[in-house]
Amino acid sequence: MAYSDISHGLWAATAKDKPVLDKLEGEQVAEVAVIGGGYTGLSAALHLAKAGRSCIMLEANEVGFGGAGRNVGLVNAGLWLMPEDVISLVGHDHGETLIRVLGASPELVYSLIDEYDISCEAWRHGTLHCADSGAGYKALKERERQWQERGAPVSLLERDAAAEMLGTRTFRGALLDKRAGTVQPLGYAFGLARAAQKEGAVLCDRSPVIGLDKCEGGFCLKTPGGQVRAKKVIVAVQGYPEQVFRDQVKNIVPFNYFQFATPPLDNAVLKSVLPGRNGAWDTNLILSSYRLDESGRLIVGSVGNIEGFAWDLNLAWTKRTIAKVFPQIGDVDLEYGWYGRIAMTTNHIPRFHVMDKDMAMVTCYNGRGIGPGTVFGKLLAKYMTDGTREDIPLPVSPVQAVNFRHLRGLFYEAGSRVYHFAQRRI
Ligand SMILES: Cc1cc2nc3c(=O)[nH]c(=O)nc-3n(C[C@H](O)[C@H](O)[C@H](O)COP(=O)(O)OP(=O)(O)OC[C@H]3O[C@@H](n4cnc5c(N)ncnc54)[C@H](O)[C@@H]3O)c2cc1C
Repeated sequence: MAYSDISHGLWAATAKDKPVLDKLEGEQVAEVAVIGGGYTGLSAALHLAKAGRSCIMLEANEVGFGGAGRNVGLVNAGLWLMPEDVISLVGHDHGETLIRVLGASPELVYSLIDEYDISCEAWRHGTLHCADSGAGYKALKERERQWQERGAPVSLLERDAAAEMLGTRTFRGALLDKRAGTVQPLGYAFGLARAAQKEGAVLCDRSPVIGLDKCEGGFCLKTPGGQVRAKKVIVAVQGYPEQVFRDQVKNIVPFNYFQFATPPLDNAVLKSVLPGRNGAWDTNLILSSYRLDESGRLIVGSVGNIEGFAWDLNLAWTKRTIAKVFPQIGDVDLEYGWYGRIAMTTNHIPRFHVMDKDMAMVTCYNGRGIGPGTVFGKLLAKYMTDGTREDIPLPVSPVQAVNFRHLRGLFYEAGSRVYHFAQRRI
């Protein structure tokens, strides 16, 4: 499938330097086959090729078709969970390494952008996690303590200082994380693909893997037009699995997130709306996000999809939200609307599956995949060549179905619709 307005919206309209890929035709041989052309698969292909390993990446649709081309573009450091929660869930050894490696993940993203001259609206001015209540403020204070104890450049701003950076007094305070920033997410995926090609990786799009079997010397991967023989396989299909991978992702709780973008705002207005171009989101359970793109469009997002009547409901909510949070913008139309499916787990920790000695997958970044996808792609590349399981700072977990996972997804969807129907009416 190709990008559509409702799936990739603004990002497909403005991403630069789309790479040219061919469909897989005939038979090819590689040391490692990578399945999926999002951040994980592209970073794996790039780092394999850079290390001189032969590698073929197969993408079912187009590069960035999954979460990589639909997301908010916040390049965050670490997971949603606070550091001490990460340690209590995965243990001290994995936990401290995971926190350190993902805390440094924006560094890897922005250094690749510099190294390969990726044109993706990259800003690294810090992000703002905004307290929308007293409880949210307390939680951010605790988050600040835990990160500062680990030496991270994170500080909680009081209402006035936060208002200056945000351009709104809506929030009680905001946690500024100077490690983080924003990108044009599809543009970043395009850039990773071009970098991987430059290093010698073979990338194919419109080539869904429809069969995967063990065969002499490794694995045979079938697509409608051809076949790849590879010694090792990295699976990187995350929340958009096609064909043979539907079973591998039974532990995902689907969670939709939509975004609407205004036309470019006037320069005078832009002086007071996120004037430092920081990406922002809030502490509400049904969270909202706010960011600008390069042309000065304000992009507002929240939980839910925009199919059918949800389009009108969530478009009306977005307009009310802009009017309340950034009244200086005045009446404004919304030019683009799109949504995607986030792969969540019940404990918010990503999963590491080893399906065979020579086939592995890291998945479910719980809405934080730009940094983690880039990092885990690099680590999977090492693990599959001259590394060990210990290169991946996660416990190996079995693929287990989450009970009633679709009902959980529907619960989030219904909850967000009621919330968006009712919020900010007065
Ligand atoms: C709406 C939304 C907002 C988000 N906001 C943020 C954010 O602000 N910051 C952040 O860090 N993260 C965010 N995320 C999460 C982030 O986008 C994902 O974690 C990230 O894209 C995961 O990367 P990936 O490469 O593992 O998977 P994906 O990007 O989902 O890529 C998987 C690819 O595998 C392909 N595929 C599937 N099956 C097959 C097959 N059989 N054969 C070949 N290819 C196949 C798919 O077509 C797809 O292109 C958001 C996600 C969404 C959906």
